[in-house]
Amino acid sequence: MNISARRRWRAFAALAMAGAVAGSTGLATATGAEVPAGTGVRADSVAAGAPRNGLDGSREVGSLEGNVFAADRRADLEGGARTTAATPYWVRYAPLVYLASGDKNYPMSAESFIRLAALRWSHDDGCSDEQLVRSGSINPATLRSGGYKHQGKGGSPGCRHGGAVYTSAGKVRPFDLASDSNEGMFLEIANAHRGGSGVRSPIYVDYIARSHMTFWFFYGNNDSPAPRIADHEGDWERISLRLNASNVPDRVAFYKHNSTCWLSWRSVSRTGTHPIIYSAKGTHASYWKVKNNWPLPYGAVDTTSKGHAWKTWEVPSYAVRARPWYGYGGGWGEVGSNRHSTGPLGPSVYKGHEPNWNNIPACA
Ligand SMILES: [Zn+2]
Repeated sequence: MNISARRRWRAFAALAMAGAVAGSTGLATATGAEVPAGTGVRADSVAAGAPRNGLDGSREVGSLEGNVFAADRRADLEGGARTTAATPYWVRYAPLVYLASGDKNYPMSAESFIRLAALRWSHDDGCSDEQLVRSGSINPATLRSGGYKHQGKGGSPGCRHGGAVYTSAGKVRPFDLASDSNEGMFLEIANAHRGGSGVRSPIYVDYIARSHMTFWFFYGNNDSPAPRIADHEGDWERISLRLNASNVPDRVAFYKHNSTCWLSWRSVSRTGTHPIIYSAKGTHASYWKVKNNWPLPYGAVDTTSKGHAWKTWEVPSYAVRARPWYGYGGGWGEVGSNRHSTGPLGPSVYKGHEPNWNNIPACA
């Protein structure tokens, strides 16, 4: 739950009703009302042109009943089921991801998230957020092309537009906007959809032969352990495999919050050719073993355990740079009161696809 953002919205709405926020528009979105679920966009329009791997469409979609909502299930199936293309090389090394026992924040597809989301702009200085595109109406290719635009504020005081015009292809996530870090663009879904879909969700891959193979995972929500300062809607995670001159992995990089470390391929647990990854409860940071007290920077701990198994070689896996939305530089999730409680940047030129292997420590 992003309570801080909700509280902020309500406060702004109250201010606006008292006439304290001059010249602002879009106040209807500042009432704290939830974004309705999207229904209008055909899933196959989102998935068109995607590379596909061999998913048997008749297979059961997963056992997480109650956490699989119908629209998402349909999208995930349509996105990956009509498969005839050759299996991509990376599928051989796609990880087994153990979700943590009891974690109700499941993976989901990025395409479903976009289909359910509204696109919004966050203004600073108490000026209300604005809706740019209603839920169900976002065109992923327009996110990519920069076709969604918004003008910043004209300067304090007041809420009139007048600053620079920003596009969805820029680095426009709130708190990352270089010129005005408190403004920015973000996707927002209804809280009811944050639970995600389940272990039939697709994965996204950046593969460069003899360089790296990065597996991206998307979840509907990040539910931080106490003191809960980093809860945020939308959660992108990843691991990266370094590929040697023979194009086989020799290292695995584990991304966990603001730190990354590596293990040799030899020392990583595997099932067959698939590395085994443990997704931390609620935060989904990637670890290499079961442990109940991984230290976090702000005093909390991550925990990993063997919950549901996400066998990512059995689900659709997409070349991430070919996704229709790739190039979007805004937030994937509701804006919060600070950068850690705001939807993250997704896979993009703004985030990179592999670590600097020479500058990260060995995992300890
Ligand atoms: Zn505006």
